[in-house]
Amino acid sequence: MEWHEVFKGVESDDAVALVEEEEVERAGLLRRLRNNLGKARHNLRDHLRLIVFRGIGDELWEQVEEALLAADVGVEATGRIIEELERRAATRKLTSSEDLVDEVAAVMADMLRPEDPEEQLIDVSEKPSVLLITGVNGTGKTTTIGKLAYRLKQVGKTPLVVAADTFRAAAAEQLTEWANRVGCDIVRQAAGGDPAAVVYDGLDAARSRGADVVIVDTAGRLHTQVNLMNELAKVRRVIEKQMPGAPQETLLVLDATTGQNGLRQAEEFRQAVAVSGIVLTKLDGTAKGGIVLAIHEKLGIPIKLIGVGEQLADLRPFDAEDFTRAILSSDG
Ligand code: GDP
Ligand code: GDP
Ligand code: MG
Repeated sequence: MEWHEVFKGVESDDAVALVEEEEVERAGLLRRLRNNLGKARHNLRDHLRLIVFRGIGDELWEQVEEALLAADVGVEATGRIIEELERRAATRKLTSSEDLVDEVAAVMADMLRPEDPEEQLIDVSEKPSVLLITGVNGTGKTTTIGKLAYRLKQVGKTPLVVAADTFRAAAAEQLTEWANRVGCDIVRQAAGGDPAAVVYDGLDAARSRGADVVIVDTAGRLHTQVNLMNELAKVRRVIEKQMPGAPQETLLVLDATTGQNGLRQAEEFRQAVAVSGIVLTKLDGTAKGGIVLAIHEKLGIPIKLIGVGEQLADLRPFDAEDFTRAILSSDG
């Protein structure tokens, strides 16, 4: 999947020139993701390859199960994968650990592929569209906003970012730096202010300046912090009231390195705010890419973007095929 295909509301004409550049960049990012995922000694691919193949049977499935659990795939998704592998093994020739790796990759890609490709898109079809970015502290919200604004500009949209994280003193500064790097407008107020008021001003500014996409940064919070969750609900209400139909997306940013823990947080978070998509960051920092399967199985919310580094270009559309290839194949 390429950037011009990620957004609902972007004409492919706006982005044609990008395609060639993206091909090169995509190959680079996938290689990097694979290398980083492969750094730890026991990544999923190696773990599966190390299984001494003695034929189909309980012993084999137990070893596969162990490898999947160690890669953060989670109990539920692991169960489903094993079930499907057993089913397929009845009709397909599985004679080596190489075959096994290929079959696991195929099962995973099938599981991760969205039933409706539309549901994976990021909707920026209204002018302006509003993207609300949420999550716990330090998961990569602000960084993701910088990266996303950069891509939106590339596909011909004018982004405007809103610093509604008024909680942390340096938050607006950090977002301002990203806005400068990208070359987009920012709306901010003095620290300690009311996030809803900043958002109100931000939407106002977006309208009067003709911005296409408003990206709202919010303070990190835990689902257990009732006041902060209420504040988030208020921000959402202000957006809905000021622009019927918005926010077009509420994205939950998750840190892949926190594994099953982050997943538990996400489950609770989802109950408090209507989340339309997941951004999974720091995949470059973990050998346990399997968390993607766990998220897919447990949350049922599409992963829309993945973060693979700290730089502007280190954001990728999530693609089931690309991803399973990155974590499971050696050739690419
Ligand atoms: P926020 O508190 O959710 O806004 O998180 P920040 O955007 O401030 O990011 C927290 C830290 O994570 C920063 O040091 C970022 O550079 C880093 N970070 C964010 N995304 C990624 C990623 O995809 N990969 C890596 N390696 N680091 C990331
Ligand atoms: P209520 O506070 O739940 O009654 O809902 P309102 O729609 O009246 O306002 C919600 C929030 O939006 C307020 O607390 C303000 O933070 C913000 N807000 C509403 N109107 C304005 C405005 O004219 N200017 C600014 N800056 N913020 C506003
Ligand atoms: Mg932040």
